[in-house]
Amino acid sequence: MSDLQDRQRGCLWGLAVGDALGAAVEFRPPGTFAPVTDFRAGGPHGLGPGEWTDDTSMALALADSMGRTGWNLNDQAARYVHWYRTGAYSVNGRCFDIGIATRSALARYEQTGDAWTSGDDAARSSGNGSIMRLAPVAIHFGALLESNVEELAARAAESSLPTHRSPQCLSACRYFAVVLAGLMTGLDREEVLSPTWPVLQKLRAQTPLHPAVEDVAAGSFRSKQPPDIRGTGYVVQSLEAALWAFQHANSFRDAVLAAVNLGDDADTTGAVCGQLAGARWGEQGIPCDWRSRLARPDMLNQALSGLIR
Ligand SMILES: [Mg+2]
Repeated sequence: MSDLQDRQRGCLWGLAVGDALGAAVEFRPPGTFAPVTDFRAGGPHGLGPGEWTDDTSMALALADSMGRTGWNLNDQAARYVHWYRTGAYSVNGRCFDIGIATRSALARYEQTGDAWTSGDDAARSSGNGSIMRLAPVAIHFGALLESNVEELAARAAESSLPTHRSPQCLSACRYFAVVLAGLMTGLDREEVLSPTWPVLQKLRAQTPLHPAVEDVAAGSFRSKQPPDIRGTGYVVQSLEAALWAFQHANSFRDAVLAAVNLGDDADTTGAVCGQLAGARWGEQGIPCDWRSRLARPDMLNQALSGLIR
């Protein structure tokens, strides 16, 4: 396997591992639980060790759509509805942990059949539900990084529309996809996270980032520490928290544990950070013990086979 393929696979595996690590402490305020060091049972959904939540289910649905139909937003939304209504793409055959914005957007899609407008575009609906599932887009379109960064960013923003259509969400997806693609390409973390990375400059020149996302891209995660870094459900704080956990970590393990131990929306902070860390250290960089105990690896491998050809 090439280094590129290892990092592409790592990006999706990292998402699922971070999700599973955080699931047991989801909704717990920081400092109120024994620090997570491994998979553990429990959490609000009563999962077993290594079982993952909606973050991974939605990423699998998106990957399945891309592998089968190419780029078709209505098909993506239809597969999210399939998950919502029947538990497809779930680790245990049930839909659980679905966000409020996602639920109402999918209900709207069922009424209108138009995934381009089913997400709420209000600023108050700026949850982290589209960055948490972004890996398939960055994996599949990452090769556009140098040749056509605008198209890469456009696909990332479009992937958000079915459930999260606010300017903050669209902009966060644009930025996050470009960072993930840079890491998967093998560029240095320092370079990719630099506010003056030339690829980022090109992206901004075409369409400026939303001011709140621009603050993150400009390095807000470098100057802040908890409790000012918070792993909440708000897309900007979620992205900032994941980058904070990732920036100085020496390994995949250190990065995702720092993310999930922020508590609150721990599974999603873990999933967002896991995409970064998996893109940086590759599938081989994820501890063997976690890879071998993650639930339903067959579902991840099948999704990857449709994304990486
Ligand atoms: Mg979740």
